[in-house]
Amino acid sequence: MNAAGLRAKSIAVIVCLAFAAAGCGGRATVRLRPKAPAKAAAGKKKALPATLTISVVDASTSEPLTNVPVAAGKRYLSTGAAGMAVPGNLTAGDITITARAPQHSIYRQSRHLQAGDNTVTIALSPESETPDSEPVVFRHKAYLTIDDGPSATWTPEVLDILKREGVPATFFVVGWRAAERPDLVRRAYLEGNAIGNHTYSHDYGQLYRGSPRNLTASFARNGLLLKNIIGYAPTVTRPPGGAAGNFRPGWQSRVTGAGYTTVLWNVTTGDGSTRTTSSQMVENAKTYLARLKSPEPAVILMHDIRPPIVKALPKIIAEVRRRGYEFSSVTDDLREPGVIIGPRRKLLPGRF
Ligand SMILES: [Zn+2]
Repeated sequence: MNAAGLRAKSIAVIVCLAFAAAGCGGRATVRLRPKAPAKAAAGKKKALPATLTISVVDASTSEPLTNVPVAAGKRYLSTGAAGMAVPGNLTAGDITITARAPQHSIYRQSRHLQAGDNTVTIALSPESETPDSEPVVFRHKAYLTIDDGPSATWTPEVLDILKREGVPATFFVVGWRAAERPDLVRRAYLEGNAIGNHTYSHDYGQLYRGSPRNLTASFARNGLLLKNIIGYAPTVTRPPGGAAGNFRPGWQSRVTGAGYTTVLWNVTTGDGSTRTTSSQMVENAKTYLARLKSPEPAVILMHDIRPPIVKALPKIIAEVRRRGYEFSSVTDDLREPGVIIGPRRKLLPGRF
């Protein structure tokens, strides 16, 4: 089978359904299946390998890494998401494979898939560890935080912009939406963005009634879901609507005690309101950015479930750059849970 012939075929993708039982840890299975023969190649049906297994190992120990999200072209699989169906076809030939696991560098390489390939093993390099004694200090950094998604319509456009600009963001995802489009959460993560927890329900009436137990339970439910999607449950969270006006005395310490870091914001684009236009988003961002005093980091609030972000985002990125900030994302690398930043809150030493 030559490369051209192979390209005429397609690859349908399945995941390893019996991941746990069959012990196929660290692998995603891609099934190669010929399409109806193309006219030019009609006649002789050439066999393709039945499956292509992508294995993920740690580069330094060669130990298999399990539950790692992997992108093969535009298909977003997980090596450990048992039973997750991945619909659609892949085009054989050159394909970009991406994988990411906590404490490892993102793997991204183009591979040529051809007949006879049964396995592809990719090795993720461990990131060099920051010594524990070194305080985590964020100075003059900007964090784009994007809440409420993923949205089938707007999240892909937002991801395209971030990719084009070479800028990471932090997506505070809502569980019930992530359950509908886990591929978009995987894509955001595999493209170098951070994933945060914005509760499963995002239902104010349910989350802020009675004790903080409803809120922490909703974080926990979303965390379990996210663990299935990206391989771990993020501890960075954002309460819907923020803590101010929603948290009552004692709530913050309960949330922190449950192991979560609360990430609020100090720059809002105002797009929580459905009436805010993209130009108003940009103006709002400029106003709040102008109020920050260096080296206070900018934590910018936006939403990817409505259209204005698509026009506003490149302009906000340009404004943040103009002010000399370095872009970063909010990851679980923070040493201890705690409140990060919020309206009318002082910066915490060693964090922000
Ligand atoms: Zn929200």
